[in-house]
Amino acid sequence: MGVSCGSSLRDTWSRAADRCSRLFPCFSDPARRSAFSLKLALVLLHILFAGVLFLFDRDLIEKTKHQPWYTATYVLLFVATLVQYFVTAGTSPGYVIDVQKAIDERDAEARRTLLASNIQKAVDDRDAAARKPLFASKQPASSKNGDVAITVDGRNNHRGNVTAWTKLVMSLFPQRSSPTGLTCPYCNILQPPRAKHCHDCNKCVLQFDHHCVWLGTCIGQGNHCRFWWYICGETALTLWTCILYIGYLKSNILKAWWADIILILLLAALSISLIFLMLLLLFHSYLIMTNQTTYELVRRRRIAYLRGIPERVYPFNEGVCRNLYLFCCARSSSMYRLERLPTAQELEEKSRPYTCYDVLSCRCC
Ligand SMILES: [Zn+2]
Ligand SMILES: [Zn+2]
Repeated sequence: MGVSCGSSLRDTWSRAADRCSRLFPCFSDPARRSAFSLKLALVLLHILFAGVLFLFDRDLIEKTKHQPWYTATYVLLFVATLVQYFVTAGTSPGYVIDVQKAIDERDAEARRTLLASNIQKAVDDRDAAARKPLFASKQPASSKNGDVAITVDGRNNHRGNVTAWTKLVMSLFPQRSSPTGLTCPYCNILQPPRAKHCHDCNKCVLQFDHHCVWLGTCIGQGNHCRFWWYICGETALTLWTCILYIGYLKSNILKAWWADIILILLLAALSISLIFLMLLLLFHSYLIMTNQTTYELVRRRRIAYLRGIPERVYPFNEGVCRNLYLFCCARSSSMYRLERLPTAQELEEKSRPYTCYDVLSCRCC
């Protein structure tokens, strides 16, 4: 009886899952299903924390009637935080494969344009030669029979099959670097400095920071700025919600003990989240100001290009102002920024101890 009941339940579940997969084909992929569940859980969690407050706090409802702008601002922050979460999760972190394709395609396009202009020029020259009087046609040796010799190489190369991407990446490393040690064994692609393969995304990411389970995506050059704004919004929202919880508990303590217990438990969870978010915000602000990534900070000794550099020297640091500018504004809408490794001379300059003059001249900025 129990076995047949169990099997019928399993059949019903698999039938429902099949129907759901047919209705929404994107949910047939387990990774997409788990990403959707994660996002749904996050939205429900936000609604729970804010909803409980509006359910129990009569004072807040009264305040909403008299000062609607107060609740409207809170709701606006609530919505903006959720929107920022979805925007960050949906933004590409800067996959190396996409950048490589864009650069190689741009190079191929430039070559096609050059080839077309060369053909046009050669045709014009031939027509001009044909129009010349008979005695003049004997002079140019290259066009004496009207043929045009053009070498077409479908692969955008200068030497063998060196692509534009290979040339660009190799120019970012010191002279004697070998491409074999710089190629990702999973993507089989040449990695520029600061890129790393993410095993969760199964792609190489530019300026890899970390893979965020909460967002279900990597944090890299493409979405690090948005990620910072998301944790900033989430911190502000959590702090405001904590203040509302404390305000309710202060004025209503002992009125309804069961409601108080629920709110105290939720406040405890909120406080832990708030501490975590504040630390995360401070940590990422520090990384941004020194132009580092979480991966570079945590795995400094294991990263080849950071080996041998003193701990307090940040090789990509260009001063706080420039770092902030590069982080917030430098990325154009279509292209990512590729950083070259600093030379020994530049590293020596960065490792020079600070003097009074450096402090006065704001060397760190
Ligand atoms: Zn890779
Ligand atoms: Zn990833």
